[in-house]
Amino acid sequence: MSWARQIHLKSAAELQTMRQAGRINAEVLAAVKELLKPGVSTADLNAAAESVLRKHKCVSPFKGYGRPPFPTSITTSINQELVHGIPSKKRFLKDGDIVSIDCGTILDGLVADSAFTAGVGEISPAAANLLNATEEALRVGIAAMRAGNRTGDVSAAIQKYVEGHGYHVTREYTGHGVGRQMHEGPQLPNYGKAGSGLLLKPGMTIAIEPMVLVGTAETRVLSDQWTVVSADGSLTAHFEHSVAVTEGEPLLLTVL
Ligand code: MG
Ligand code: MG
Repeated sequence: MSWARQIHLKSAAELQTMRQAGRINAEVLAAVKELLKPGVSTADLNAAAESVLRKHKCVSPFKGYGRPPFPTSITTSINQELVHGIPSKKRFLKDGDIVSIDCGTILDGLVADSAFTAGVGEISPAAANLLNATEEALRVGIAAMRAGNRTGDVSAAIQKYVEGHGYHVTREYTGHGVGRQMHEGPQLPNYGKAGSGLLLKPGMTIAIEPMVLVGTAETRVLSDQWTVVSADGSLTAHFEHSVAVTEGEPLLLTVL
């Protein structure tokens, strides 16, 4: 996936709008999370998301994105599907599945982007451990989002945490600057060297998104040209927040 590499430092007013977009996005994700039960179709999840977006007169930047144009407002990626799964009326959640839900919200021309992975019914201890480690990897990445650090510090923190727990990070998909577009600079891989990369400055807004695989870092794309799966069929998880660098603590944009 390619995007404009330009980095836009956001004004206080832009950050406020992005924070509001992030609140709406969090509301969307919460509404979808409520529905994660056996027998629900992934198209139902998309419909619930679109209903919340409509209520706020917002749209998701996912719909129509890329080639072929992505058809829905959220992505639904189940088990070995890492990211970019396409919701379908024919795909039903089952007990024990883990499902990643990713959504973006555009408000007044500014984008917020966030994702979570959660279980359906009762999940295996192995799946639960994967979810915990991936969410924690996001937390350690966010903690490194401080002015004066570099993008490599965030990347290295994520990689160290994930690999320290025996899992793998994808090399093919990355976090990214977010705001005036869904994907802008800087790129933020889930692997890297501390002290390398771009200097973080107040006003930078980045979607940090650990994408974690149990058995391998390798992925492949299904014939729908979107769905990314682990090459070995092993379980995967994905968590994401849009975060602003400030003079002090990192500002989480995509929470209620
Ligand atoms: Mg996302
Ligand atoms: Mg993203």
